[in-house]
Amino acid sequence: MASKDVTDPARMEKIVSLCKRRGFIFQSGELYGGLNGVWDYGPLGVELKRNLKEHWWRRTVQERDDVLGMDGAILTMEQVLTASGHVGGFSDPMVDCKTCKGRFRADNLEASQCKEKPSVCPGQSPKCELTEPRQFNLMLQTNFGATGEQTAYLRPETAQSIFVQYRNVLDSSRVKLPFGIAQIGKSFRNEINPRNFTFRSREFEQMEVEYFCHPDDGLRLTDEWLEARLAFYEEIGIPRDKLHVLDVPDGERAFYSKKTYDIEYAFPFGVQELEGVAYRTDYDLGVHQKGSGKPLEYFDEETRARFLPHVVEPSAGCDRTVLALICEAFDEETVTDDKGAQEVRTVLRFKPTMAPVKVGIFPLLKKNADQVRIARDIQKTLQAWMNVFYDDSAAVGRRYRRQDEVGTPFCITVDFDTLGENGPELRDTVTVRHRDSMAQERVRIDALLPWLLERVR
Ligand code: ATP
Repeated sequence: MASKDVTDPARMEKIVSLCKRRGFIFQSGELYGGLNGVWDYGPLGVELKRNLKEHWWRRTVQERDDVLGMDGAILTMEQVLTASGHVGGFSDPMVDCKTCKGRFRADNLEASQCKEKPSVCPGQSPKCELTEPRQFNLMLQTNFGATGEQTAYLRPETAQSIFVQYRNVLDSSRVKLPFGIAQIGKSFRNEINPRNFTFRSREFEQMEVEYFCHPDDGLRLTDEWLEARLAFYEEIGIPRDKLHVLDVPDGERAFYSKKTYDIEYAFPFGVQELEGVAYRTDYDLGVHQKGSGKPLEYFDEETRARFLPHVVEPSAGCDRTVLALICEAFDEETVTDDKGAQEVRTVLRFKPTMAPVKVGIFPLLKKNADQVRIARDIQKTLQAWMNVFYDDSAAVGRRYRRQDEVGTPFCITVDFDTLGENGPELRDTVTVRHRDSMAQERVRIDALLPWLLERVR
């Protein structure tokens, strides 16, 4: 495991620049100067994010008998967030600097920079004049009705809509404990210092499960979920040795949590949280039962016992995982071209399941009508199954490099051999070039689809 303090700002700068240049992530409202802490996903970013979310949903909901999905509203009633404790206590301590007018999280000053002297942290320069910390509520509020008489909030986490719908899901689906409700959706926090690209944003997406269980099973299931989540990261291309599990000590966990693990990743800006796996006991159902006055207890028909289920919550950040996937995939290697010259090849080494584009399709010569026709036919066949990119501009080597840079695992070239011009044995075959090894092989056109499906799904 990398040291917690190791950072690589130069690498991060290259990643941010690639994300913009190739259409992964743009700052929201950039045309007008940009909205701080809010990001838009471009054509490639949206594909990567969709691949991640679909994979999470498949593994977490579709392939499990004990987890159901839901999609709750973003706009949340004030009563819900009052009962959950967010209205009163979802805050971070904030300090202001009277000299530079900066605002900083008081519990994280070492990660911030003084606005006048960025080489030091706030409070370290003799000119800094920090106020006493005060609590700053992170929720974004809005108002309903013609005169704005009703207050609502943009949800600060997806979890609360699950707790509030727990009874409806239970009654309508007739599930038995233990079972989970999963949700992917947007959350909003008015973060004091959005930073590290998309890592700390004001609008972000979460992938959460609230897993309801008997109180005796909570601790065991927390450990089981931790292992399942670590295996998930490994499967999507984030190796175990880049992950760090923090067993959050007493005093640092939420007061109702009996156990919390933070799964952290070694980002180029330091080791930081990707996901929390928290044993939340019966806190949430308890506060909503009290707040609503409606019973939320579970009746166990076998034991005839009535009790409030306990909850284990694996809560992952979708945007943070996308960022981790990009950081992990980013690679630069020196290669020698055909003429013996050395150049740097930038490659995103995504797992094929995560790659935004699965295959690039090229006619060797765009003026060769037969090559173009065959390449277009291949595109049409494959397009129904996966995201492909057709490219006929520039030399084929340049086209390969462009696909390397966005992480496309395979490129197909239709050439003169495909047309049978160098002998009948290669007719109706294409060159398939592998992104990582740059090795090439011939594959028959009619075998392409199964060949690719086996490798990209
Ligand atoms: P942090 O300590 O980094 O602020 P947190 O402990 O408050 O995070 P949780 O409330 O546990 O985060 O939220 C669960 C997950 O949601 C986090 O692990 C993270 O992946 C994601 N998340 C939380 N806040 C943000 C944010 N501001 N921007 C992007 N993702 C976030």
